[in-house]
Amino acid sequence: MKKVVALAGNPNSGKTTLFNHLTGGNQRVGNWPGVTVDKKEGTLRRNPEIKIQDLPGIYSLSPYSPEEVVSRNYLIEERPDLIVDVVDGSNLVRNLYLATQLAELRVPLVIALNMMDVVEKTGAKIDVRELSERLGCAVVPISAARGTGIDELIAVIQSTLEAAPAAPGVLTFSPQTEAALAQVMGILATHTSADLLRYSSIQALQADELTLARLQLSANELAMIKGIRTELEQDLDDEIDSIITQERYEALGRLADAVQTIGPAKLSPTDRIDRIVTSRLLGLPIFILVMFLVYFVSIQTIGTMATDWVNEVVFGDVVPGAVESFMTARDVAPWLLGLVNDGIVAGVGAVLGFLPQMFVLFLCLAILEDSGYMARVAFVMDRIFRRFGLSGKSFIPLMISTGCSVPGIQASRTMENERDRRLTIMTASFMPCSAKLPVIALIAGAFFGGSAWVTTSFYFIGIAAVIVSGVILKKFKRLAAEPAPFVMEMPSYHAPRALTTLKYALSKSWAFIKRAGTIILLSAIVIWFLSNFDWSLRMVEESGADSILASLGNALAWLFYPLGFNNWQSIVATITGFIAKENVVNTLGIVMNLGSGLTEESPELLQAFGALLNTHGAYSFLLFNMLCMPCFAAVGAIKTEMASTKWTLAAVAWQMGLAYAVSLIYYNLAQWFVNGIFGLWTVAAIAVLILLVALLLRPNRYLALGQKKELVSA
Ligand code: GDP
Ligand code: MG
Repeated sequence: MKKVVALAGNPNSGKTTLFNHLTGGNQRVGNWPGVTVDKKEGTLRRNPEIKIQDLPGIYSLSPYSPEEVVSRNYLIEERPDLIVDVVDGSNLVRNLYLATQLAELRVPLVIALNMMDVVEKTGAKIDVRELSERLGCAVVPISAARGTGIDELIAVIQSTLEAAPAAPGVLTFSPQTEAALAQVMGILATHTSADLLRYSSIQALQADELTLARLQLSANELAMIKGIRTELEQDLDDEIDSIITQERYEALGRLADAVQTIGPAKLSPTDRIDRIVTSRLLGLPIFILVMFLVYFVSIQTIGTMATDWVNEVVFGDVVPGAVESFMTARDVAPWLLGLVNDGIVAGVGAVLGFLPQMFVLFLCLAILEDSGYMARVAFVMDRIFRRFGLSGKSFIPLMISTGCSVPGIQASRTMENERDRRLTIMTASFMPCSAKLPVIALIAGAFFGGSAWVTTSFYFIGIAAVIVSGVILKKFKRLAAEPAPFVMEMPSYHAPRALTTLKYALSKSWAFIKRAGTIILLSAIVIWFLSNFDWSLRMVEESGADSILASLGNALAWLFYPLGFNNWQSIVATITGFIAKENVVNTLGIVMNLGSGLTEESPELLQAFGALLNTHGAYSFLLFNMLCMPCFAAVGAIKTEMASTKWTLAAVAWQMGLAYAVSLIYYNLAQWFVNGIFGLWTVAAIAVLILLVALLLRPNRYLALGQKKELVSA
């Protein structure tokens, strides 16, 4: 029969890295906690009889977060044959806290003492044999990142499974607590298996509802347990949860003193870097600079050179030329040539042309993540978010959303607080995802000399939109909540690994290509038809002004007039963007015949756009497209995560409303200040601005006093 080994451990203790070593499987290694939300399975390398089950990263077995509930239910209900607890050796006490709880489940336990390379670097020493003796289970020192100790660990796993060993030793609490526990165990003896008796009694003493429900106790028994608890609380003058937690930590403190010698007290390189990178003063400016550099490299310099080449040579010359000579040689109908060259090549090519820039960008982001910097960013942003009463935890979904908001929205699952979670789902798509970047690059190239500041501005406008939404929406009863505390482990910095980062960039680029070949291609064909035929299905003239698409766009022109982009081309581009944001580029490529040179500041490009938009209109167009409803796939993810049509509609309404308001304010105030144009819409923009500020400053009726003060001062 198959044996099951469960991998448990704190977030960022190296479970995923170890899992890959054990299974030889291919998985992504991330730095932020919560990447391993779903369960993952594999089998031991060279031994398919041993199943490895990766559990979500957790700090304890107390069911505060969904991960803890998942892990705990799995361990209690499935009872694996062995638990391997991955412990970050450079953070011993905190990590062993979970081990003390795992031991109480009476399942054989092996400790994989990870990060030994870090421990060695800091000069600390851990007496592994002593630790193993005191814990009553095998302890194997490893370094998952370096791949050392893995063979020993596999050997120990196999021999432990064969030997059917005794369960590990459990921690002894203070005499008072032990006495209380003994009484509870007496009551529960007939309700649970001997294996789970001690564990269940501790949980019952702590009034854990899930445990109490599982045990099916009588009212009398419940009352007795409550009495025991109250007596202990009075005796030790503390609350039960803090009694148990503190006693665990005290015991672990003694254990650590006995097995661990701290190295000479010098700052590790990581500490020294963190002093600067996460400092209150410099943390944010450094982050802004780093993001600017990323966009500078990918959008403005290296990436652009490659993109220009692809656009001009490949999609501007080679491909259309080849297509044309191939088709004319075979005498195909002119409309078909038009569909292929002005529809598919112009549209899909316009999107694909950004691939080099995307690749460089994905590579930069992978390097930032793999080196450990992104975890620091979450820490820096947590401090800022907290000032506005938002949870720092929501910053992780936001960072993921810069790749694609679908996984970003899904990542909100790690948030304990339902209201914070809703808020994060509603706002995650404000971040510029990789499909939006070609749109930014296109407009930045045409109007702003390809400046990386335009792209960087949208990164931080996204963050600002999240904060503004948070502050405003938290004042509504259904979303008001104190931000949950946010603990996060900081992995040590290390040089990014070439293979990991390259693989990541390639897989993201491949996803980009696949989208271009499927949904974007299909859209290109439909858009070409709609822009080349009129309602009676006759082909229209080159400008497309009489086309179906133009009439649809023109019908909505009044709506976008106040935002400065009431030409049909921009409007239909905005609408096709709801299918996929790359379609904005796709559509403009087709309806404006922009086959080549999209990112370059070419006079023709500027001229083509200049006839449609002025600089302020162009930026307003971008603002609207970045903040409004995301693509349908992301809306689908919102619907799944919210599990409610009403909340989904509310989210879309908020995104549309905010996008419209921001574009309206920006365009009309810019026209007024820079071009001196003052009109009815300027008044409207000022009114909307005042409304927004009023909503921001409105006191919060639903939060506690302390919170209120913070919000007002923020
Ligand atoms: P998980 O959250 O427990 O799945 O942890 P991961 O496997 O994603 O690892 C978190 C971070 O720690 C990654 O950046 C790993 O590269 C890093 N890491 C994992 N194991 C080690 C190790 O033994 N030494 C060092 N220095 N870093 C490690
Ligand atoms: Mg993981």
